[in-house]
Amino acid sequence: MKLASKYGEVVQESLQALLEDQSFLPNFKDEDRENAFKSLESILSTPNQIQKSFLRVPLENGKILRIPAFRVQHNNAVGPYKGGIRFHETVEEDEVINLATLMTLKNALHDVPFGGGKGGVVINPREFSEKELHTISKTYVQNFCDILGPDKDIPAPDVGTGEREMDWMMGEYKTIHPGRPYRGSFTGKSQVNGGSLGRREATGKGVYYTLRYMLHNFVKENEEWFKRNDNRFAKTALEHSDRPLTIGIQGFGNVGSVAALESYSCNYLDTKVVAVSDRNVTLYNGDGLDIKALIEFTSNHEGDLPTTEEALSEHEIKAEIQEREDVLYLDTDVLILAALEDQIHEDNVDQVKARMIVEGANGPITLGADRKLSEDGVLVIPDILANAGGVIVSYFEWLQGRETQFYSEEEVFSLLFKKMKETMDEIYPQFFNDPFALRQNCYIHTVMKLSNILYRHGKLY
Ligand code: NAD
Repeated sequence: MKLASKYGEVVQESLQALLEDQSFLPNFKDEDRENAFKSLESILSTPNQIQKSFLRVPLENGKILRIPAFRVQHNNAVGPYKGGIRFHETVEEDEVINLATLMTLKNALHDVPFGGGKGGVVINPREFSEKELHTISKTYVQNFCDILGPDKDIPAPDVGTGEREMDWMMGEYKTIHPGRPYRGSFTGKSQVNGGSLGRREATGKGVYYTLRYMLHNFVKENEEWFKRNDNRFAKTALEHSDRPLTIGIQGFGNVGSVAALESYSCNYLDTKVVAVSDRNVTLYNGDGLDIKALIEFTSNHEGDLPTTEEALSEHEIKAEIQEREDVLYLDTDVLILAALEDQIHEDNVDQVKARMIVEGANGPITLGADRKLSEDGVLVIPDILANAGGVIVSYFEWLQGRETQFYSEEEVFSLLFKKMKETMDEIYPQFFNDPFALRQNCYIHTVMKLSNILYRHGKLY
């Protein structure tokens, strides 16, 4: 069967590797085994449900728009569907399916008891007034209200949406379903509406933590083993451990700026952020950028970095202004990708110099470019592992909403790191011992977890 989604291709490779491993699902032999794997492939490669709707939205100028909107429910074997709602003009059905698939795989990998879903509305939110965005958010809930709910499908923010939209949407859900539990119907809400402390920082903190845990904890604790290890990725990790590291970060929004701040204030690794970029520019300083000053600047300039010499000198920020894409090609030890999909592709992969890359964004490297990086021993910490902090803390928010007991920020981060450490401890020993890249290794683990659950549900035959 041809798999539709980008993530589906990696799932297929993982299934192929598992088919040959007779210790996995040992009860299935010969033809039964082939059939069980075909069931797995079709379940994991196709969503359970795709709903498309046109939101009827009266604009302030009197016109009426019908805006395409989606909710894809990929799989709920592990728990209710979970995934963000994106407001962006390029949203299309295949992209939403891809992202919903990734959510199923990501949640299972980290033992978060949710399935995978995703939503999208085809608009550029910058072109609408606050009142119109409120109507769009409410209409989205009205049109999809039958399939949403705290035990069915729990949306969260994504590109173009935030706590304001989640508050509006939860409010509408409550109006449509009076008397029913509603706090767990959306996550990423404001604190007054039951949002969790630490949700905003969770993804960026988790992204940096995967790097820190690999280099500071895992490699150091197993140093002798790493020195004897011929695995190409083990060599890359060892080369980066216990020495000063320079970092470039693409994207300086929620994920990128928090990852930058983690690096800036990290006491475990000797890292220096020398370059950051956003939709306009790359800023470079070989001695290290003043991350706190840049965050202060962006918070007063609608999220944008300074783009002129005057703005830099007025705010006493020392940096060279370079082209937007330059951050990808600078000679840094580590590159954190925290902007958009498909940023490193077959046509530019040869210009990338960093030997370690962390995916803060979803799918920032194309499959072809990923294969090339892997052959060259470049160690990529993939999205499925690195950027799960947001959904993990969303799970804590959902739990807190049920218990109406709230955790302190310190408790949230400690639980977050504990959960991510458990996943990494499960994966890193095998990864540094076998020929697969870390992405494939994570997929093999998550496909095994999902397969065992589906087998016990009696879905493989
Ligand atoms: P954001 O909107 O806060 O920030 C995006 C940043 O990317 C901004 O600095 C923007 O200027 C920059 N950017 C836009 N176009 C660019 C371009 N062409 N080149 C360089 N930079 C560009 O978004 P975010 O919440 O930080 O999310 C970033 C990525 O991480 C997205 O792909 C998102 O899906 C993914 N992600 C986010 C979370 C989360 O919790 N926020 C969780 C998982 C994955």
